[in-house]
Amino acid sequence: MAEAESTSDEGGRDFIRDVIRGDLRAGRHDSIVTRFPPEPNGYLHIGHAKSICLNFGVAREFGGRCNLRFDDTNPIKEEMEYIEAIERDVRWLGFDWGEHLYFASDYFEQLYDWAEHLIGAGKAYVDDLSAEEIRAYRGTLTAPGRNSPHRDRPVDVNLDLFRRMRAGEFPDGARVLRAKIDMASGNINMRDPVLYRILHASHPRTGDAWCIYPTYDFTHGQSDAIEHVTHSICTLEFEDHRPLYDWFIEKLPVPSRPRQYEFARLELTYTVLSKRRLIQFVREGHVHGWDDPRMPTIAALRRRGIPPAAIRDFAGRIGVAKANSTVEVSLLEFCVRELLNKTAERRMAVLRPLKVVIENYPEGETEMLEAVNNPEDPAAGTRQVPFSRELYIEREDFMEDPPKKFFRLSPGREARLRYAYFVTCREAIKNDAGEVVELRCTYDPATRGGDSPDGRKVKATLHWVSAAHAVPAEVRLYDHLFSRPDPGADGDVLADLNPRSLEVLDDCRLEPNLPDLPPGEALQFERQGYFCLDPDTTPDRTVFNRTVGLRDSWVKIQAKGGAKA
Ligand code: ATP
Ligand code: MG
Repeated sequence: MAEAESTSDEGGRDFIRDVIRGDLRAGRHDSIVTRFPPEPNGYLHIGHAKSICLNFGVAREFGGRCNLRFDDTNPIKEEMEYIEAIERDVRWLGFDWGEHLYFASDYFEQLYDWAEHLIGAGKAYVDDLSAEEIRAYRGTLTAPGRNSPHRDRPVDVNLDLFRRMRAGEFPDGARVLRAKIDMASGNINMRDPVLYRILHASHPRTGDAWCIYPTYDFTHGQSDAIEHVTHSICTLEFEDHRPLYDWFIEKLPVPSRPRQYEFARLELTYTVLSKRRLIQFVREGHVHGWDDPRMPTIAALRRRGIPPAAIRDFAGRIGVAKANSTVEVSLLEFCVRELLNKTAERRMAVLRPLKVVIENYPEGETEMLEAVNNPEDPAAGTRQVPFSRELYIEREDFMEDPPKKFFRLSPGREARLRYAYFVTCREAIKNDAGEVVELRCTYDPATRGGDSPDGRKVKATLHWVSAAHAVPAEVRLYDHLFSRPDPGADGDVLADLNPRSLEVLDDCRLEPNLPDLPPGEALQFERQGYFCLDPDTTPDRTVFNRTVGLRDSWVKIQAKGGAKA
């Protein structure tokens, strides 16, 4: 499991920061420019958050800037919806690109000119082979490729064909423009990679202006150069592309020379972080959309109540390394609890209600009891909670025949109701099916506030709500979307979907004085976990999401030595 390399929200030491520090010290750059370069073909996920925190983080720490650039070279898979979602998510994470919002599609004309430049220099040619033929000619990791029969076309023929490709004279797939590098290279990326393909498709930003589109490889590095990016930070799978990016930068009259550094992508247990897969889960209805709180997307984490500061803290703790590894998802949950424990107001909520009647409490009377809003933050103050003769407690806080270590309510047993009184269970009322449907209890008026004047102790403190005052609600409990830590390890990701990833409780009762929180801002329901209002809430229906439970499996994993922190 991954070693956490720093514990702060920002900064820390890692090889990227060392490189930047060295470059600044040696005067290779006066200031640094990074960029976060998403393809707008899906929503951002927690893996992207790692890259965002790194790119925007180092820019902030070293007084440079970070651009947001969309690498929008594939009109078939890209949509405006994704562009808007990505901008919203980066901002929500707490980062700002200022004026520096760019689109690779803004560079299409420049990239086209550079393609003609390569043709003119004899370093690119138009190929008529089909996609399958190109694949067959490419060779394998162990066998060299073969030259295309069209590789030695004269410059003027190549220029003419390329201009006619642009003019729309040929159908999709009829021809491509390829770099002329080395079909025997040990690096497959250098075996005459495709630079342009014909695609009669409308682009979300350039519309029908183009029917040829540059490949990602031909676009990415030059876009960095146009933007004067100094440190082009990407994930390890692009390491083998670096020689190609450098080849373009060397052969073209680009305005600057970015350098690329690769770091390990984030992998998380019980989680799939591949856009292709996430799109599939949405399209096939395995989840209820991109922001279904079970998804690893930023939009889903937000809806689930996870604060952006917890995600930044998580990114700081996992650090930046050069070797791939898998991080425990419980570390993310730990970061969420750490933060919310300090900031979230406490309330009482009964998720699976069992009615309690206090037989010696006057009918029709209500009294207000004082409750602490956040024991970790005295400034959060107190509130008044209504108490009356009929209450609800949690069904699991009663057992008719309790085992030895069960100290909550059972017939004859006394327990404390939080901020209220000691109550003693006198009788459990059952329905015809033999299920307990109501408890008859008595209370001790001398224990108001939760302590007995005679020093009598009780071993359990239960949360409760007053039946007449409670707010009915639906509460959605989430578990991991996958039932094994390494989904898909046996080949079929869908077979590993957790059938119990969502449990909907539709008869919950909440304390009436809920603060006026926007959706996504979490509260602690005492003894249960952190919860936030879901946007599905309407004036007649209150819906809460469980952000994370209180039980901390991360601490347990650490204690067992199962992961290092
Ligand atoms: P795909 O799933 O299509 O390969 P992608 O996840 O690589 O897409 P991009 O939009 O290309 O998505 O990613 C934008 C940036 O985020 C890239 O620099 C990429 O390296 C980085 N990134 C993507 N996934 C991760 C991850 N799991 N951990 C860290 N960085 C990531
Ligand atoms: Mg990618």
